[in-house]
Amino acid sequence: MTKEMLQNCGKCGLCLNACPVYKLLKEEQASPRAKLQLIKAYDNNTLASSALLKEIVSKCLMCGSCTANCPSGIDHYSKFMEMRKKMVEDQGETPAIKSLIYLLAREYRIKFGANLARAGQKILPDSFAENYKLGNIPLNNFPTLNTTPFRKASDTIILPDKKQVGTVLYFTGCATNYLYDDTGFATIGILKHMGYKIIIPEDQTCCSIPLLFHGAADKAFKNITTNINAFKNHDVDAVLVDCSTCGEALKNEYPRLIENQGQNPFDTKKIASKVMDILSFIDQHFDRLEFDSTLVEKLSVTYHAPCHTKNNFGAHIIAENLIKKLPFLTYKRTPDFDECCGGGGTFFYEYPDVSKKMVDKKIENAKAVRATYWLTDCPVCRMNLAGNLNNNDNLQVLHPVTIIHSALKQI
Ligand code: SF4
Ligand code: SF4
Repeated sequence: MTKEMLQNCGKCGLCLNACPVYKLLKEEQASPRAKLQLIKAYDNNTLASSALLKEIVSKCLMCGSCTANCPSGIDHYSKFMEMRKKMVEDQGETPAIKSLIYLLAREYRIKFGANLARAGQKILPDSFAENYKLGNIPLNNFPTLNTTPFRKASDTIILPDKKQVGTVLYFTGCATNYLYDDTGFATIGILKHMGYKIIIPEDQTCCSIPLLFHGAADKAFKNITTNINAFKNHDVDAVLVDCSTCGEALKNEYPRLIENQGQNPFDTKKIASKVMDILSFIDQHFDRLEFDSTLVEKLSVTYHAPCHTKNNFGAHIIAENLIKKLPFLTYKRTPDFDECCGGGGTFFYEYPDVSKKMVDKKIENAKAVRATYWLTDCPVCRMNLAGNLNNNDNLQVLHPVTIIHSALKQI
């Protein structure tokens, strides 16, 4: 983004009430408008770098709501990413975030980290796990890591259950691979049922959005090129993601970064043009689903729309309508179904108090509609929502694909 674009901010304030952090803190410095003015002053050399400036810029969920609501078309998202990079260069990074970046920058390190965490989950005494929190989430409320990484447990090429109607690539992301394999198996089950051949490239890796959000674009490049190389030679109908944040990386960030590097963006743009979130894909081909007609119990569900599904893809209404169309459930909308839960990548860890207030409000509203299942299509939202529920809340948080798959007719 150019300095000229930053000048376009007419200070109208429309981004203020779109910003979940501002809405909670009610401080001008938490607003997107103030962040832009500070960035402009820093770029013009009228404001020096400081720990406080880094803190103000970083206290942001990177939810994209300001960009989606700005009448002047300002791309806060890219500007914040650039500024975060400068702040890390000037002020350094915390040891915890540095370690996370180091881990996520290579697949073998992610695997090592997941193995270590899995072993830790087995040996940690309950008393410790109950009382120690990572950010706002008690350790004993974290999901149990997959016994086997999803991509290892599934085949690379999966044939459909019926006459083939097309071929899709599946980008599984780290969360499905290491944390939530139920999402992955349900996605495969639905696509097979619909008649799609599925390709899950073995050597895909982290989409790297956490690295980009933490100003470590240089460290993300190995992952980005690995993913592009793993996906570019397949002639498919769609590249599917089960997490809209991964989708944002593949669709919008990769082409921009590759072009900025002066590399040929042809392959990246070709992949980007086919990226689609799994719920929109299912919705487009809804008539291919056959449900189990013996299901009589009406499940009661509500939905939490992840920020990137809403702000980057505008697909939250498609997701909600898809859920409403499912014949075996009753949908109950909460008044804040499309408001941020405060998970925000590592926001729940870095700003636990702010995050906790956001998620507790969501939980209160979800409990009020008395649903049994709380559906959401983002693994961080799922972890944050489920991680802050109490045992007696009687609400199970799942990706929508899990519930769709469980109701399909066996072929
Ligand atoms: S909505 Fe856009 S133009 Fe208005 S204050 Fe926010 S950034 Fe500036
Ligand atoms: S990205 Fe989200 S949290 Fe960050 S300033 Fe914009 S609206 Fe606020």
